[in-house]
Amino acid sequence: MLTASLEDYLEEIYRLSLTNATIRVSDIANCLNVSLPSVVKALRKLRELKFIEYERYRKLNLTGKGQEIGRSLWERNNTLKEFLVVIQSECDIIAEAEAMEHYLSRPTILAIEKLVEFMRQNPECYQRFQAFYKEKKTAALIKRP
Ligand code: CA
Repeated sequence: MLTASLEDYLEEIYRLSLTNATIRVSDIANCLNVSLPSVVKALRKLRELKFIEYERYRKLNLTGKGQEIGRSLWERNNTLKEFLVVIQSECDIIAEAEAMEHYLSRPTILAIEKLVEFMRQNPECYQRFQAFYKEKKTAALIKRP
């Protein structure tokens, strides 16, 4: 099983694979703000679990399984960021999505996914929600002493 930390590594490797032909250990370290030895340790684990092919001084590749799981982790992160935008949270969206993805259960994430998709497919509902939200926010500002 993947730990939260290994999930983050796999997600980041997948994200990097979308734009980089070659993924360097230093790229991963920079993106996740961790040390090179930590990355190497995580890569060894991911290799053991058959998510990646990795040899020192060789190209790092995602296996089929790594590609599939990496993509779903990346999608989960994107869904949560989109959700936070939809509900117009004034949080730090990247940090909040990071925290939520490891905390929320699978059924909750699936439910959020449906809500995000519904809002995407029904812009008129989304606009009504935005107007409602704005109204509430204005009312709260007026009430404030
Ligand atoms: Ca993550």
